[in-house]
Amino acid sequence: EKPSILVTGGAGYIGSHTVLALKQAGYDVVILDNLVYGHRELVEKILKVELVVGDTGDRPLLDELFNTRKFAAVMHFSAYAYVGESVTDPAKYYRNNVVGTLTLLEAMLAASINKFVFSSTCATYGVPEVVPIPENHPQHPINPYGATKLMVEQILSDFDVAYKLKSVRFRYFNAAGANPDGLLGEDHNPETHLIPLILLTALGKRESISIFGTDYPTPDGTCIRDYIHVNDLADAHVLGLEYLLKGGDSEVFNLGNGSGFSVREVIAAAESVTGLAIPIQECDRRPGDPPVLIGSSEKARNILGWRSQYPSIQDIVTHAWQWHQKRHS
Ligand code: UDP
Repeated sequence: EKPSILVTGGAGYIGSHTVLALKQAGYDVVILDNLVYGHRELVEKILKVELVVGDTGDRPLLDELFNTRKFAAVMHFSAYAYVGESVTDPAKYYRNNVVGTLTLLEAMLAASINKFVFSSTCATYGVPEVVPIPENHPQHPINPYGATKLMVEQILSDFDVAYKLKSVRFRYFNAAGANPDGLLGEDHNPETHLIPLILLTALGKRESISIFGTDYPTPDGTCIRDYIHVNDLADAHVLGLEYLLKGGDSEVFNLGNGSGFSVREVIAAAESVTGLAIPIQECDRRPGDPPVLIGSSEKARNILGWRSQYPSIQDIVTHAWQWHQKRHS
């Protein structure tokens, strides 16, 4: 009998893919999600696990949950994640991402739960000095979103020393794609991410795809990112959880493919996958975008035995395309 795991943000994009992977691995899962950006129907119709609706900052709710259920670990996906909004409304980000997480951690400690898997981000590195970025690269985030994630990382290091809270922190590069079986996908509102916006353009839901900056110091002038399939992220989370359940010490892992694609290359991949011409519009740079972000995931491979199943941008875009076609059919 495998233990119960609490997954915050399980009604969101990466959270929902991980809940499915946990279920398939035999874990009992409860989701805590405030449904601000998460999807109730997804939990009820597809994931079919218990959903508790609430905030991670709601201490009475957490105490009640931890008094009535026994969890071996918490996986924490819930956070606000719009970089632009974090600049214009940082209070919203510090309150939810930092204060909310601190409340969750305190409630866990009060309930003697000492294993935590955390969604961090390559945005904690800021503008990299070297690529592929290793985990020990300096962290100087250039927007409040990245700062909130770095603050939680710091809290986790200090809580390990003081309270023996063991955590795995995953720093994701660009999560993309969808479950290949077509059940789950990316459904943000508003949508700001490159691959879904390209595919919505292909479907005729948008007039063109804006290219944010064509004068970057990259071969074609557009930003380069390391896209990683959401199912590969989900697999890594199951491995990270099992590492902690076996008594592993706190660790931090990058999750990327170690290779990057420019905005123009991603658009070309989408044209090849969809067989459609995708109209583009060249625009100014978007504030807060480093020119190149590529991560080294050697550590996750060595310590967790993680392997990317879908490293090809073609596969990532194909699975995203299957999902978007189904959703808009
Ligand atoms: N991007 C773009 N047009 C868009 C959305 C994104 O050119 O409509 C670029 C963006 O500047 C970045 C890359 O695509 O270089 C990936 O952006 P996304 O928002 O998907 O992820 P991020 O890198 O911000 O996590």
